[in-house]
Amino acid sequence: MRVDIISIFPEYFAPLDVSLIGKARSRGILDIRLHQLRDWTHDVHRTVDDTPYGGGPGMVMKPEPWAEAIDAVIASAETEGAMPRLVVPTPSGRPFTQKVALEYAREPWLLFAPARYEGIDARVVEEYRERLRADEVSIGDYVLAGGEAAVLVIVEAVARLLPGVLGNACSVADDSFAPGAMENLLEGPVYTKPPVWRGHEVPPILLSGHHAAIARWRRDQALRRTVERRPDLAARLDPDTLDRRDREVLEEAWRAVRGERAGEEEEPPAGEERPDVA
Ligand code: SAM
Repeated sequence: MRVDIISIFPEYFAPLDVSLIGKARSRGILDIRLHQLRDWTHDVHRTVDDTPYGGGPGMVMKPEPWAEAIDAVIASAETEGAMPRLVVPTPSGRPFTQKVALEYAREPWLLFAPARYEGIDARVVEEYRERLRADEVSIGDYVLAGGEAAVLVIVEAVARLLPGVLGNACSVADDSFAPGAMENLLEGPVYTKPPVWRGHEVPPILLSGHHAAIARWRRDQALRRTVERRPDLAARLDPDTLDRRDREVLEEAWRAVRGERAGEEEEPPAGEERPDVA
């Protein structure tokens, strides 16, 4: 996969030389090319921002350097007519999920446009929406100082899905959120040696060697954990993907969570006395 990143801080992407992604690059699975946006400015100060129309605080990134940079990347296509998919990180984008990571992993070429300031003049996405299937994506409901960290998150999530990047390709299918049996599920707890550490024991089933029973235990743990920690996800589980045991575990987990919540509601807020009930 080819990945181009245009930014005013190309040095921000040094972590892409490390670990799995670094290895994928050196093995030619991932071809990452960094570009300095300021190389497409034409004034002595290499200006990339200007005041916002309509007033307000902050600055907005100018459309001209972005368009020139994006056009230059498109022009560097190695195959006649090939176009990258343009990904623009923004808090107002569609949520980046494992499903979107899989969608991007199927693309041969991604082009990232991480902004600074208040973002990029909206006409840039408009200009490339059709041609580059421009996609505005958010990595979560919070505001970063710039899009570079979002690009690192997205590239890491996508790159580990590329064939040959992970040592054991099966681990992708067992991951939290993986389409299939793990869709809308969180992975349960994991353990390694020693079997007892500081008095904490590894669940005995994991030492039993019974593969089917272990798989069942893992599934139970994933179902319980998802209900406890992410009830929003658990509520989206597709009933057609659940067997009888799944449904039993889920019912029990929902009962436990509702019981706990009801208990919490009865408790007075911290620091307050329970009013006397006559
Ligand atoms: N004023 C903008 C808003 O409220 O939507 C936030 C601008 S933010 C300071 C600058 C840049 O950081 C954004 O244009 C985007 O590239 C990036 N960014 C910030 N939060 C992000 C998020 N949650 N997901 C993806 N990118 C984000």
